[in-house]
Amino acid sequence: MTYELVIGIETHVELATRSKMFCGCAATWFGAPPNTLVCPVCLGLPGALPVPNRRAIELAITAGLALHCETPEHTKFDRKNYMYPDLPKGYQISQYDLPLNVNGWLEIPADGGGTKRVGIIRAHLEEDTGKLLHGASGSLVDFNRSGVPLLEIVSAPDMSSVREALAYTEALREILIYSGISEFRLEEGGARFDTNVSIRFEEDGKTVWPPQSEIKNLNSYRAIEQAVTFEAARLWDDWQAGGEVRSRTGKITVGWSPDSGRTFLQRRKEESEDYRYFPEPDLVTYEPSRESVEALRASLPEMPAERRARFVAQYGITDHDARVLVSDPALASFYEQAAAAAAGEAKAVANWVTGELLRRLREKGLRPTAIPIGPEHVAALVRLVASGTVSGTTAKDVFAEMWATGQKPEAIVAEKGLQQVSDESAIAAAVDEVIAADPKAVADHRAGKAKALEALIGKVMGRMKGKANPQVVRKLLGERLSA
Ligand code: ZN
Ligand code: MN
Repeated sequence: MTYELVIGIETHVELATRSKMFCGCAATWFGAPPNTLVCPVCLGLPGALPVPNRRAIELAITAGLALHCETPEHTKFDRKNYMYPDLPKGYQISQYDLPLNVNGWLEIPADGGGTKRVGIIRAHLEEDTGKLLHGASGSLVDFNRSGVPLLEIVSAPDMSSVREALAYTEALREILIYSGISEFRLEEGGARFDTNVSIRFEEDGKTVWPPQSEIKNLNSYRAIEQAVTFEAARLWDDWQAGGEVRSRTGKITVGWSPDSGRTFLQRRKEESEDYRYFPEPDLVTYEPSRESVEALRASLPEMPAERRARFVAQYGITDHDARVLVSDPALASFYEQAAAAAAGEAKAVANWVTGELLRRLREKGLRPTAIPIGPEHVAALVRLVASGTVSGTTAKDVFAEMWATGQKPEAIVAEKGLQQVSDESAIAAAVDEVIAADPKAVADHRAGKAKALEALIGKVMGRMKGKANPQVVRKLLGERLSA
């Protein structure tokens, strides 16, 4: 390792409100026909005045509380002035020196083992811009997204590897989804990362820390991974080659091109004075009362890290399974309901949910909110297996059937006659037939070949159409073969 990576991340996430930040237009812009969710306020027409969205402010403060932030007693909105075709007012209403949240942290798994706290410098509320659509004949602008509430969360430069940067974004995503603050729809542009990257190293006995690059608007974990890796190496190579980074005093802003796998220069210098921030004259200052802050704190649900620990302790499942289940609140709740309904079989329920169920969701590209069966279906199936009514093999077929039809597993088993056969006399007949038909496997087994017994069990199961109780089959085969 020739240099140390220093990474800080600014995350923009859209808040899960029904309406926009300063007007009554719907905030559900994704997929809507262009320029249908607009009004004089979010189009920036002259004379239109902003009215703050109470729910957005509550969600922003709640996010800060979930991230262990302080809620300052005095806050305000400011204008951030710049010209761009997707910003109709010529300024963005944001927060400058008095944001809603300061001085927080979140915990991530550290590179060297254990955990590490990443500082949250601030989290402020602002409005999203419109969206430019570039085509062959020119560019068009869609203002449906204009004015959607946006929370900007600024981390301290506390991450020292790509892995830690990814762990941070993952932890942040979980916390915001869990507390109902944002759906964190990366794939739809509802969450974006600006990633500050710099390198630090020893040279001639001195620590050298050249100015950083800010990689703008990364919209996937893969983009973070590739762009940070590329830019750090580029800075290092540029330094070694005596390039511009040696004389530069401020940071640069770069973009990321996934197609070429390279960053490209956007702006050389961008200081806050360039934005001529000043207090938003159309809005009053806001002093969140201590009572309202405490009420929001009390409304916070159990956070993912606590829930994982509780799942391991309460249900006796592995840390890995707990991680998979807790990664999505809808999936975790589904599991808890199924585990409660299948009392004493929480581990078996975890196997079904993390196995068959999750595999099907992924195949169909469904979110856990769209699971087509109820937790009681899974619980009932687990009880059927536990009581010996159906075999594990048959249970998979029953699962497939109930997934497709929504039928109760008991009904499927009864209708298709899938009850497991544990009756020894019925199984003994099949065992005798298999032994008589396959003297070679019998001889192999007697010669000590372990696979021979499994093959014979498989043949008996085949004869019984998968419905024989495998323990009874194994027992009877063992008895016959050792006789
Ligand atoms: Zn509007
Ligand atoms: Mn911002």
